Amino acid sequence: MSKPPQIVLVSACLLGCECRYDGRHNRDQRLEDELLKRGEQPEGFCPEERGGLPTPRPPAWIEKEGAAAVLEGRERIVTHEGEDVTQAFREGAQQALARCQELGIQKAYLKERSPSCGVQSTHVNGVPVPGRGLTAELLAQSGIEVIGIEGKRPRE
Ligand code: SF4
Repeated sequence: MSKPPQIVLVSACLLGCECRYDGRHNRDQRLEDELLKRGEQPEGFCPEERGGLPTPRPPAWIEKEGAAAVLEGRERIVTHEGEDVTQAFREGAQQALARCQELGIQKAYLKERSPSCGVQSTHVNGVPVPGRGLTAELLAQSGIEVIGIEGKRPRE
């Protein structure tokens, strides 16, 4: 009997969902092929939409320090116009974790440089810097393996 597919969380924009802040996607066909080869079944998830933000929406970033400080309640996530969107980002991150727990997900492939999904790189004060986005930070702190994906790779 073949093994049942392992469900993995994937940033929805990497699967072609037009949920980016600018209404576009980051579809990564090479990732889709790699998941299929490994027997991993993608569960698409966009924390910013699930947190209640509209699409399109203003670009946003972590204000000063990093995602861990946001989780600890010490700093905010703001749009480029200074609107505080921390609560929506926190809600999206919590929902991503709840989805992982519900489906027994142990691994997440997340879009780099996003203030939610970035794994190696995120946006702080409007510029990309090393560090995690809020959802990636919460998942990692909860013991879920987070893997950063640049996105937009064509099929090989
Ligand atoms: S990077 Fe994450 S939050 Fe941003 S559009 Fe993609 S799935 Fe949504």
